[in-house]
Amino acid sequence: MDFRLTDEQELLRRSVREFAETELRPHVMEWDEAQEFPRALLGKFAALGLMGIQFPEEYGGAGMSSVDYCLCIEELARVDPSVCLSVAAHNGLGASHIFMFGTEAQRRQYLVPLATGQQMAAWALTESSAGSDAAAMRSSAARDGSDWVINGSKQFITHGRTGNVIVVMAVTNRAKGNRGISAFIVEHGTPGFRAGKKENKLGMRASETSEVIFENCRVPASQLLGAEGQGFINALQVLDAGRIGIAALSVGLAQGAYEAARSYAFVRRQFGQAIGTFQSIRAKLVDNAVRIEAARLLTYRAAAMKDEGRRTTLEAAMAKLYSSEIAVRAAEDGVQIHGGYGFVKDYPAEKYFRDVKLTTIGEGTSEIQRLVIARQLLAS
Ligand SMILES: Cc1cc2nc3c(=O)[nH]c(=O)nc-3n(C[C@H](O)[C@H](O)[C@H](O)COP(=O)(O)OP(=O)(O)OC[C@H]3O[C@@H](n4cnc5c(N)ncnc54)[C@H](O)[C@@H]3O)c2cc1C
Repeated sequence: MDFRLTDEQELLRRSVREFAETELRPHVMEWDEAQEFPRALLGKFAALGLMGIQFPEEYGGAGMSSVDYCLCIEELARVDPSVCLSVAAHNGLGASHIFMFGTEAQRRQYLVPLATGQQMAAWALTESSAGSDAAAMRSSAARDGSDWVINGSKQFITHGRTGNVIVVMAVTNRAKGNRGISAFIVEHGTPGFRAGKKENKLGMRASETSEVIFENCRVPASQLLGAEGQGFINALQVLDAGRIGIAALSVGLAQGAYEAARSYAFVRRQFGQAIGTFQSIRAKLVDNAVRIEAARLLTYRAAAMKDEGRRTTLEAAMAKLYSSEIAVRAAEDGVQIHGGYGFVKDYPAEKYFRDVKLTTIGEGTSEIQRLVIARQLLAS
């Protein structure tokens, strides 16, 4: 067992950190307030390999490992969790589904523009009445000659409005339950596809989230993604990997919140001394540092197992559950250590506190992670 990163991984961490500090840090609040993802930066993200982190070079990707992926995501989230959420959803959901289950032709046509940052991906599973119970979806797709006709709507879709390509799950055979759901690739601009309401969110505001609507949206059979009836099963496999990304995002966000609080604690003086010399403030900082390190190790373990080609359902759920919950505590303690200055937008603590709540909700809530873990550990 070797806990050290390789020299290449240290270099990767440094490069992404430098990029985030230079290109993201100065604009974090501007994008939060505008509720806009900095699309103009896609070329720069792509130049660092961040739009196709884990995809092979033959599909325009950077061919990095899952551990490398965690390093990139952590470093982006440390500075701007909401921009990072968009990068993680693009890589880990939409593009990943196409890579994992697409045909060679689909990978060439759709994955290459995504991995090279010319386009952004969206992934649509959730519906207004089917969130945690996603298999209860109502959206359907019916075969008509050589086409599929999709009807229904999806809720809370990252890049629902701005994504160029959307992977959508829909029922193709209701009698077969979750084995009667299929996935489809839909291009933005296809007649019958439109974005609905854009959500005005508590946090993660630079990452666009919208409803998407399908009204007799016709796609050719060549846009069925994976085998017919396997869409939901495949979506769960995508989520196993995606959750490692949300765990890494949580670790990075927690690290950013912790560092901001630590710096502030040695600048702010009360009672004639830096607040960072008070025992209760030191205990908060130390406890967060320990929890963040534990979360990081759980996350890297899940990623390393994925790199070995092993199944990670249990480890990814553990990493996601723990990392997101300790990130909430780190962000909350960050505000507390800033006192009143943590409650205003002039300091980063306020934004970490708003952004962090998504991590215990997106890609499966904490309650659902506990169900997944219980199924693995407590099967009788
Ligand atoms: C910013 C943002 C971005 C998102 N991006 C995407 C995206 O790109 N694509 C996509 O498909 N979805 C996306 N989602 C949706 C997200 O995955 C869902 O919000 C999440 O899965 C929870 O579903 P829900 O909101 O319907 O909550 P519900 O399922 O209604 O849950 C409400 C509460 O009940 C609890 N609960 C539900 N079932 C159980 C149970 N069996 N046992 C115990 N407790 C339970 C939940 O844990 C939660 O606390 C996004 C959401 C947000 C907020």
